[in-house]
Amino acid sequence: MKRSREKLFKKQSGQDTDGQKVIRQVKIPKVITIQELANRMAERANTVIKYLLTKNVKVTINHTIDQDTAEFIVKEFGHEILIEEEPDQLLKDILSKDKDLENAVSRPPVVTVMGHVDHGKTSLLDSLRDASVVNSEHGGITQHIGAYQVNVNDKSLITFIDTPGHAAFTEMRARGSKITDIVILVVAANDGIKPQTIEAIQHAKAAQVPIIVAINKCDLQGADPTKVRNQLLEHELIVEEMGGDVLSVEISALKKTNLDKLKELILLQSEILDMKADPSIAAAGVVVESRLDKGRGPVSTVLIAKGTLKKGDLFVSGASNGKVRAIYNYRGDLINEAGPSTPVEIVGFQGAPNAGDDFVVVENDSKVEEIVEYRQQEIKNKKLAGNKKTDIFGESDPEEEYNIILKTDVNGSLEALANAIEKIKIENIKTKIILSAVGPITETDVTLAKASNAILLGFNIRPNKEAKDLARSYKLEILYFNIIYEALDHITKKISGLLAPETEEQGQGTCEVLEVFSVSKAGKVAGVKVTEGEIKNNSELRLLRDGAVVYTGKVNSLFREKNEAKEVKAGLECGVSIKDFNDIKKGDVIEFFKTITIEREI
Ligand code: GDP
Repeated sequence: MKRSREKLFKKQSGQDTDGQKVIRQVKIPKVITIQELANRMAERANTVIKYLLTKNVKVTINHTIDQDTAEFIVKEFGHEILIEEEPDQLLKDILSKDKDLENAVSRPPVVTVMGHVDHGKTSLLDSLRDASVVNSEHGGITQHIGAYQVNVNDKSLITFIDTPGHAAFTEMRARGSKITDIVILVVAANDGIKPQTIEAIQHAKAAQVPIIVAINKCDLQGADPTKVRNQLLEHELIVEEMGGDVLSVEISALKKTNLDKLKELILLQSEILDMKADPSIAAAGVVVESRLDKGRGPVSTVLIAKGTLKKGDLFVSGASNGKVRAIYNYRGDLINEAGPSTPVEIVGFQGAPNAGDDFVVVENDSKVEEIVEYRQQEIKNKKLAGNKKTDIFGESDPEEEYNIILKTDVNGSLEALANAIEKIKIENIKTKIILSAVGPITETDVTLAKASNAILLGFNIRPNKEAKDLARSYKLEILYFNIIYEALDHITKKISGLLAPETEEQGQGTCEVLEVFSVSKAGKVAGVKVTEGEIKNNSELRLLRDGAVVYTGKVNSLFREKNEAKEVKAGLECGVSIKDFNDIKKGDVIEFFKTITIEREI
């Protein structure tokens, strides 16, 4: 009995029966509770809690910590780390180009409409859809499923995402699914480029999606398409008429003018892009919309990216799964299968997925279970983490991203450098490589660097002449390196320079204005009584009237019985004048403070 207790104790304290510490391989998920971490290390939770207390961190066994922190603890306890691998990599690159695949064939382009509010995005989507439906034998029964297709000259198809706006576009991107091939930028000819137009341009550029400009409302009296084209120049969109390569067309969404031309341009652009997908493989796509249908359960619109979806297919989508029971096209017709770039409504989901979730047909039943279980656990972990994640070493989550464009001479250095760069993180800023490629720095790289406010970095590579000239005209610096650590060092320094100095206000004292005097040299001088703390002649101050801040500035001079004073303490009366400000009134309150800058350290 005694011996078995001893054995148990030793086991609990991480020792084997010979008193040697057992080094364990500890699996660490993205978040974990203290209890679970202790279990996995075969240490006692109390030991972990006590250890953290020595670091001035108070936790209970139910606290959740993140992977980095857990890793740190595991190392401190002398164990080895096994990072849990995701069993699925499905979400990534769903729409990756399949050009190299043997069976890839051309697929219709997927188009998103973006632009400033009221410039006509919805009208354009409606007009394009109406026109196509009227042409079809199904006239009139179109339903809104979040995406639809338009037939051009009975031989080509275009898929439109039927939810205008940047949020949808960016959200999809944020979830890793790039479903848009082409962005139609709608600009009202009577209004010109507006903030959301610029935002749309930036989004499209950052996503490296080509833009076709639809200059809308050209039916209006005040329409000035030329002005729009000129304004576009300022945002590095040079339309063809002006010698550039951006396609543009003057339209009226309301009068349905030139919509055919727009469609032709879309097809032209998609020919340039040479979009292909393999229809012979199992289907994969992205959820565009999802809703709960009373009779049919969860129903989702999925845009098939590659492969062919068939009735009866088993699938995983987000943290849900299901079996395809029925497929409808955007017109509401029941169909048996759907190929690349087709938007379809699918019945057969177990639970409703979210827009932007992936949708992947999985052939093997057990694989489905494994993925879904993993994903549901991930969601639980995230929820747990969201509720009471303990940021025990005071690090905040990354919030800001710093864009980097990376061009190198060979693939090897590209990967090495990209990996190292993605690891750089300073305070709440982290790096994000928005473009990395092998080859010389071109004009496109320079333009994207400008639009995304990115660092443009060449490793063992130089820009071509055009790119150099363009960079010079944008006053954009291109950084060149041939030693990896020098590049990393430079980026780190550059990012830390970006951090705004952290400042902190230190309150000093407060006074109340009893009287205001005019003094010929000093302007208005306030006769005040210091009510709190002490006030100093080198302070900053804030003048409050009825609780509202009227002015923020600096002390001009401080007088105590006609003599200049450096500081005046609570309870005393004195005279104060404010730099560049004379509108002081009886009854105002003046707060004195000092701003101190906290140096940041890397
Ligand atoms: P959205 O906010 O970009 O989706 O813009 P809407 O499609 O809702 O259009 C905003 C307003 O502009 C509506 O009153 C439309 O009727 C009007 N509009 C849209 N396109 C045109 C057009 O080509 N010509 C004219 N005259 N008005 C238009």
